[in-house]
Amino acid sequence: MPFMMMTCVKTGKAVSTGHTSESKSFAGIAASGNKSRCSACGGTHMWNKADTWPATEAPDPVLLRVARVKPR
Ligand SMILES: [Zn+2]
Repeated sequence: MPFMMMTCVKTGKAVSTGHTSESKSFAGIAASGNKSRCSACGGTHMWNKADTWPATEAPDPVLLRVARVKPR
């Protein structure tokens, strides 16, 4: 279940949106205007679904702890 990633506009790094590609929350969220806390710069960024992509590598454990989605 890969995390959906976005690009930090300040650092250019790939960071997790906090959503996984298979989570119901990701399927149900808006196509644009979403906000996520950025683990790279500490800010909050707006992102659109079209700008995200599934992470192919295991997410940073720190990100996982912050972004863990409860199964039910
Ligand atoms: Zn950032």
